[in-house]
Amino acid sequence: MYQALYRKWRPKTFDEMIGQDSISSLLKRQAAEGKVSHAYLFAGTRGTGKTTSAKILAKAVNCEHPIDGNPCGECFACRSIDDGSATDVLEIDAASNNRVDDVRELIDEVVYPPTLLKKRVYIIDEVHMLTDSAFNALLKTLEEPPEYVLFILATTELNELPATIISRCMRFDFKRIEPDALAARCRFVANQENISITDEALGLIAKLADGAVRDALSLLDACAAWKNSGEVTISDVREQLGISDNDALVELFSAIRSRDVAKALSVIARIHEGSGDPSVFLEDMISFVRDSIIAKSSDKKDKYLRERFFFSTDAFERIAPLLSTLTSETLLYYASVLEDTLASFSKYNISKKTLLDMAVIKMCDPTMAVSVKAVSARLSEIERRLALISSGVTVTAPAPEVTEPTEAVPQSPIAEPEQRKPFAGYAALRDMLQGEPAMSAVVSKCRMYQSANTITIEGDNFAVGKLKAEPYWQTLRGSIIAIAGNVNIEFSIKKVVSNENDPTITFMEE
Ligand SMILES: [Zn+2]
Repeated sequence: MYQALYRKWRPKTFDEMIGQDSISSLLKRQAAEGKVSHAYLFAGTRGTGKTTSAKILAKAVNCEHPIDGNPCGECFACRSIDDGSATDVLEIDAASNNRVDDVRELIDEVVYPPTLLKKRVYIIDEVHMLTDSAFNALLKTLEEPPEYVLFILATTELNELPATIISRCMRFDFKRIEPDALAARCRFVANQENISITDEALGLIAKLADGAVRDALSLLDACAAWKNSGEVTISDVREQLGISDNDALVELFSAIRSRDVAKALSVIARIHEGSGDPSVFLEDMISFVRDSIIAKSSDKKDKYLRERFFFSTDAFERIAPLLSTLTSETLLYYASVLEDTLASFSKYNISKKTLLDMAVIKMCDPTMAVSVKAVSARLSEIERRLALISSGVTVTAPAPEVTEPTEAVPQSPIAEPEQRKPFAGYAALRDMLQGEPAMSAVVSKCRMYQSANTITIEGDNFAVGKLKAEPYWQTLRGSIIAIAGNVNIEFSIKKVVSNENDPTITFMEE
């Protein structure tokens, strides 16, 4: 029977784990010294090794001949856990077993010592899916667990877990696995399996897997099965995932850049005729824009960034000329159009190709964008900056960090405080934040002023605190820059008189 690569090559000892060195070495040491806790919580995104680690730990505590903390893989305990026949190791998938009765039944068995192994191990996957009453049953056991019991809870959504559960467990945060480590693991498996694959193809698999070993090996599996020739190439990987080729993207964005609507639409039509999926192509366009924004604002020799780029280094050299003609504001504008389009794919019952066509038309000509206010605000800002430049004032780029209101900011000659006026793009900003009601409500409690190339946001402690921090800050900054161009953003804590019960009231437009 064919066994999926990720199952076949699932690590069987702590030493075989990849990308979670600190976690696996600590667990290994605890097992070796017999200092295993009674409850562990493994948190992290999918495919990062949580369940694999849980299985290894279950073996390690039960193994008859452990080797330096690692399970031997040979004894009765190791073998019965590996083949799933060990009755003392219970794997519960809370996603499908979340009724309190199921869990209570299992937890009731805690009073009985293990029958064949040293420890009874409960591995509860996706533990955040348990109901409140199931959590209470679990909590009671976690408070006074018998010494022969080991709980290993795993979750992808740590924030949905009650604090009382978290505080009773030894917690490990599993991080996404670095592309380097993923590629190395895939190379190892490919060699063992006699799969011939180019480095470029492996590199793309490692990027697309987004830190998950399981996804990387499943991709390798699929590509090896469907490859066109003896060797898996980068085009096999693209074909397997329906990813568009870079050439079409470069052609499309060149057409958009030169506002050639007909040409741009013909590229979309060609992709569509070639039975490309509009959703996949849209995601590729978003990746293109995101990478372009990153490339513009950073050193493209940076290894960390380069490894995460959707494009290969070669492709990047080719798009460099196109990139140099696009400003960051334009790219942010593209990003907002594409994100709106992505949202409308699931919202409206219109052909995806039509929506994609509309997006391309909007990108070709910003004046066609729905948010006319956003554009007019931007235009006025451009005029203002042109005036500044012609009067000899240097227009600076936005500060990378939030400027604290107490810190003195170098003032441009015309940025006298009395010249500050309400931020003209306020309404446009509220428009852009329509999809973010919570954030929009916070913004509605703030006043915004504009003076020279600085936007000052005035609000109470709470509102300012919210806006200065993630997840709001990036969105706020991106939106303001899209509307007003390169501006500094400052915060000022002031009591703003507002009707907090009615967030639709704005204080900017007297
Ligand atoms: Zn063993």
